[in-house]
Amino acid sequence: MSEIPLRRNRAQSRVLHRASAAEPAVAVGGEGCWLIDQDGRRYLDASGGAAVSCLGHGDPRVRAAILAQLDRVAFAHTGFFTNEPMERLADLLSEAAPEGFGKVCFVSGGSEAIESALKIARQHAVERGDLARTRVIARRQSYHGNTLGALSATGNVGRRRPFLPWVMGDVVHVAPCHAYRYRLPGESDTGYGARLAAEFERELLIQGPETVLAFLAEPVVGATLGAVPAVEGYFKAIREICTRHGVLLILDEVMCGMGRTGHTFACEADGIAPDIIVMAKGLGAGYQPIGAVLVSDEIARVIETGRLGLTTGHTYMGHPVACAAALAVQEAIRDDGLVARVREMGPVFERLLREGLGDRPYVGDIRGRGFFRGIELVADRESKAPFPAGAGLWKKIKEEAFARGLICYPGGGTVDGLSGDHVLLAPPFIATEEELALAIDRLGAAIDAALAATGL
Ligand code: PLP
Repeated sequence: MSEIPLRRNRAQSRVLHRASAAEPAVAVGGEGCWLIDQDGRRYLDASGGAAVSCLGHGDPRVRAAILAQLDRVAFAHTGFFTNEPMERLADLLSEAAPEGFGKVCFVSGGSEAIESALKIARQHAVERGDLARTRVIARRQSYHGNTLGALSATGNVGRRRPFLPWVMGDVVHVAPCHAYRYRLPGESDTGYGARLAAEFERELLIQGPETVLAFLAEPVVGATLGAVPAVEGYFKAIREICTRHGVLLILDEVMCGMGRTGHTFACEADGIAPDIIVMAKGLGAGYQPIGAVLVSDEIARVIETGRLGLTTGHTYMGHPVACAAALAVQEAIRDDGLVARVREMGPVFERLLREGLGDRPYVGDIRGRGFFRGIELVADRESKAPFPAGAGLWKKIKEEAFARGLICYPGGGTVDGLSGDHVLLAPPFIATEEELALAIDRLGAAIDAALAATGL
């Protein structure tokens, strides 16, 4: 690499950038919870990018595993070969998963994993002669990925809108479980969960249960709502309805899984086992791109004894270096007891958030589990009125936070105007109490500056 730090404004750069800055910072280093740019500026990575870097940056064990794998073999197509890190990673995941999840398929990221989960679900139906089952029921205001199949399942209006002609797949959307926004006055959590489950079953009956393939949901909604877990009992009721109607339950744990909530799988806290679990981000912790689809033994049996062979396939499936990195990440998390640490530190993180931000008039809700926390911002706490969507508050918060050396993950109010701007925090599992407090301090200052800059 050159000695002189690379500097390019957008006009000079030949990259089609997604960073909005006129001259995007150049990432040149990473240590623990910190990223370092070309000028030596340090950024506290309080969202692990987008809930990715759960082990922090620069872990030497992962580096060593990647180099060792490169010394053996970088790539061997899974149409011909298996490889050791893939086999060992599959063992590790199926041993950590709920009983009866014996098989896993590896891809290169979250969207690919969602696509694969949907195709595996459909293949399962086809192999069983259940040809009418094509429809997917997902939830409004959800995000399941950027490729067209995953975007079809996505319920977030803004993300779907430009691509509507292509994403009008066989998908219907029902309400998300978002107590702060949609629980009725006087309604209990139990009552709210039961009402949503009844609404889901009504939709299922309207569609015709024999046409419905799967229900797809995030156990804790991440990017679009800001760390919103379901109320107690909701997923148990959904599980029961799916089982009764022969509908597969697919949980998208791309963002909330792999320890982030204080459980290896987020659905453990909901006390249920789905039929398919989809994961990515924290699986490889950003050291390599990787996603995975964990399927129940029953689904695996049908696929493996079926006529079609596995119909989902990508060139880089089970990539040896990606699997070696993810294996080293997951072994490090296990050896360092980091999931238990997140479970213990989660309440500390929540307390710090409430102490640091809870009294501010614009903080409507602080929520989440473990190291997956959301702060929803409102113009009025009493009425929960969101700030105007057009004001661009969340984008300004991102900018102001970055200028203060903080990486967080703000998101916009939805186009339907029903929920507010929010900020997602998803720090590495190794974050100290001091680092968590510093992140909250910088975030508070960034929100104040953003409110002033947008005149809100
Ligand atoms: N599902 C969820 C819940 C996500 O949050 C994301 C990404 O943010 C995806 C799927 C898509 O993952 P990727 O960006 O790796 O394709």
